[in-house]
Amino acid sequence: MSAINVRSTAIGLGLAVAACVAVPALLSSYWIYLAITAVVSGVIMQSYGVIVGRAGVMSLCQWSFAAIGAWVVMRLNLSDAPGGFLLWLLLGGLAAVPVGVAIGLPALRIRGVNLAVITFGFAVSADLVLNVNQFPGTSELKTVVRPSMFATNGRYFILAVIVFTVLAIGLALLNRTRLGMSWLELRHSERAAAAHGISVARSKLAAFAISAFIAGIGGGLLAGQLGLVVSSNFSMGQSLAMFAMAILIGPHNIEGAIMGGVMGAIMATIMDKLKLPQDLGGMLFGVLAIFALRSGISQTDMVRARKRERAARGLLDKVKDATGPADPAPAVTQAVTPAVTPVAATGEPCLAVRDLTVRFGRVVALDSVDLTVPAGSVVGLIGPNGAGKSTFIATVTGFVSGYEGAVELDGRSIDKLTPSVRARRGLRRTFQTTVIAPELTQYEYLTIGAGRRLAKAEADELLDFFGCPPGEVPVSIVDVGTRRLLDVAAAIAARPKVALLDEPAAGQSAAESLLLGRRLAQVPERFGVSILLVEHDMELVRAACSQVTVLDFGHVIASGPTEAVLEDPAVMAAYLGTAEVPGTETGAETGAEPVAEPTA
Ligand code: ADP
Ligand code: MG
Repeated sequence: MSAINVRSTAIGLGLAVAACVAVPALLSSYWIYLAITAVVSGVIMQSYGVIVGRAGVMSLCQWSFAAIGAWVVMRLNLSDAPGGFLLWLLLGGLAAVPVGVAIGLPALRIRGVNLAVITFGFAVSADLVLNVNQFPGTSELKTVVRPSMFATNGRYFILAVIVFTVLAIGLALLNRTRLGMSWLELRHSERAAAAHGISVARSKLAAFAISAFIAGIGGGLLAGQLGLVVSSNFSMGQSLAMFAMAILIGPHNIEGAIMGGVMGAIMATIMDKLKLPQDLGGMLFGVLAIFALRSGISQTDMVRARKRERAARGLLDKVKDATGPADPAPAVTQAVTPAVTPVAATGEPCLAVRDLTVRFGRVVALDSVDLTVPAGSVVGLIGPNGAGKSTFIATVTGFVSGYEGAVELDGRSIDKLTPSVRARRGLRRTFQTTVIAPELTQYEYLTIGAGRRLAKAEADELLDFFGCPPGEVPVSIVDVGTRRLLDVAAAIAARPKVALLDEPAAGQSAAESLLLGRRLAQVPERFGVSILLVEHDMELVRAACSQVTVLDFGHVIASGPTEAVLEDPAVMAAYLGTAEVPGTETGAETGAEPVAEPTA
C-alpha cells in the first residue's frame, strides 16, 4: 500500500542516466552550462515543492535559504576546509535548517498572505545583508573547487543530476510517511489534521526545515556551478518568480520540479537573447500564477488527477460489472447487516463529561452538560438545530478553548491537552462539514486517520464495512455522502477509545441511513471503539444507540435508554414544538461547525 511505484521509479532513473550520458556527449558547452542551470533550479524547485506544493505554505524566501547554502560552501572553500565540496554542500544544506525553522515559527500562528509577507520580509532583509556583505572568497577571487571527478562542466552536470535524483527519491519516500501525508492534509484543513492527531506545529516546522535544507543544497550547487556567486544570484525577485512558477506548475510532483527548472533556465536565456529585462520573465510567471491560484490546482496536479480519476473510474466500472447492473448496495448489504439490538451500556465510563459550560460571547452554547459514554457502547446526542451538539464535540475534542467543566478519558483529565494530543490519547472526531484532501486516495486517507501503518486487509475491511468504494479510488470522485462514511472509517481506523461522529448520515437516503445505524451498533464489539453519535435521523439513532442524551438550547432535557427518552413528552416538545419526534428526517441540518482555532 505504501511502496513507491516501481515502474515510474525505473523510468525516472532511466531518464536520469540517459541525460547523464547524452548531455555531456552531445551538447555544446553553452547548452551544457544551461542544462546545469536547469538542474540546479530544479533542485531549488524541489524545495518549493515541499513547502508550497505539499504543505501549502506561502513561502517567498526559498532563495534566501539557497544563499545560506552558497555562503557556507564559499566560506569553507575559502579556508580549504577538510572534506571537500560534497561535504560542504551537505553542511550548507544543514546550515539553512535552523534558519528555516526560525522563519517557520511565526507560521504556527499566522497563515496565508500574512505569512507570505513575513517570508518576503526575510527575503528582503537577506537581500540587503548580502548586498552589503560579499560572499566569502569574492574579493580574493577564490573560486569553488569542485570534486576532481566532477571538475568539468559536463561532469558537473552529472553531479547535479545525481543530487537532484537522490533528493527526488528521498522526497518520494518521505511523501509516503505520515509526515509527508500530513502536509497534504495540513494544506487542506489544519483542523482536520489536528483531529487526526497530527501536530500542526511540528508538521509545519518540519516542512520549513526540509525545504530550507533542499534550498541550501541547491544554493551550494549553484556556487559550485558558477565558481563565485554574488548577491544578485539570490535576489528576492528570483524568489518571487520561482514562487509564482511553483504555484503554476506544482514542483512537488517530480515532473513539475524538472519543468520548473528547465523553464527557469530557458526563461533567463530567452530574455537575454531578446535583450529584455529579466524581471519581465518573473512578471509573466506572476500573472500566470494568479490563474493557477484562482483555479486552486497546479498544472501537474491537474494532469495527475485526471489520469488517476480515469483509472479509478475504470476500476469502479469493473466492480459494478462484477456485482450486477443496478446499484444494489443498500438492498443487498442490508440483508447481510442484520439489526442488532444496541447493547445496554454497562461498561465503565470511558468518556466522562461533567458540568460542561461553553459561552460564545453572550450565547451560552452549552450549560452544565453532563454526559457519559460507557466503554463498549454507542451513545446518541440529539437535539434541534443550534442546540449545541457540534459545540459539544468540538469542546470535548479540544477545539474550543476556555470552557468550564471537566472532560475525562478513562478516568484521566484531558482538559489541558491540545486537539492533536487528545486525538492521540484516543478521542477521534468527524466534522459536520467533511474536509478531506481530494488529492488523497481512500487508502491514503485511512492511513492518515489511523496514524500508523495500516495493512491493506484492514483498510479493505473498514471500507467494505462502511460501504465505501475500493481503496485506490481518489477522494475527488467519491460523492459527498460516501466521504462522510470514509471519514467515519478513518476515525475508527485509529482504534480510538471513543469516536465522536457529527451527523455522519447527512445526505444519505433513509435506507442507507438505517444501514449505517446497524453498522455503527456493531462497531464497539467489532472494532473495540465506543461511539458518541450526533444525529438527526431517529431511525438511525434507534438502530445504533443504547442510550440517548437530548440537548435543547445548550441544556440537557432528557437522558437515558433510547426508547424511553424518545417517548418523553419534553423531548417531543423540543422538536418543532409538536407532539412528534421527527421520524426519518435525513440530515436536513446544515448549520456550520463552530469555528475555533486549533490550539495544536
Ligand atoms: P448544533 O450542532 O446542535 O446545531 P452548534 O453547536 O453548532 O449547534 O451551535 C450551538 C450554538 O452556539 C448556536 O447558537 C450557534 O450559533 C452558537 N455557536 C456555535 N459556534 C459558535 C462560534 N464559534 N461563535 C459564536 N457562536 C457559536
Ligand atoms: Mg451541528
